[in-house]
Amino acid sequence: MNATTSPPSFNYCRGCGQQIHPQAPACPHCGAPQTLDPPIRRGSIAPAIASCVFGCAALLGALSADEWGRDEVIGLLGFVLIAVVCGVIELTQQKASRATAIVGLTTAGIALLIGISSF
Ligand SMILES: [Zn+2]
Repeated sequence: MNATTSPPSFNYCRGCGQQIHPQAPACPHCGAPQTLDPPIRRGSIAPAIASCVFGCAALLGALSADEWGRDEVIGLLGFVLIAVVCGVIELTQQKASRATAIVGLTTAGIALLIGISSF
């Protein structure tokens, strides 16, 4: 009984199912790419960073504001709005930088609560 457990010396094409060389970047039969990387969207992470930056800025502003005048309220709401919009954009795109967007949304939410409680 042959009990060998060595890995197979070939892969199956992801496109047509035929046996191909495991190192082949593309199927020689149908041309389908054989990359093993999941199809992660490598789009810009700018929305996530913007969300985090503006969320943190809003939180810092809310924590450091002594008097809540019209300018402070408008500034806070503006920063929170940008952080929330960028964060939501990021979350809808299912990218690896979602955690950054969540940080932005969280800090923006805390900043908003501080601002509301300071009126
Ligand atoms: Zn193929």
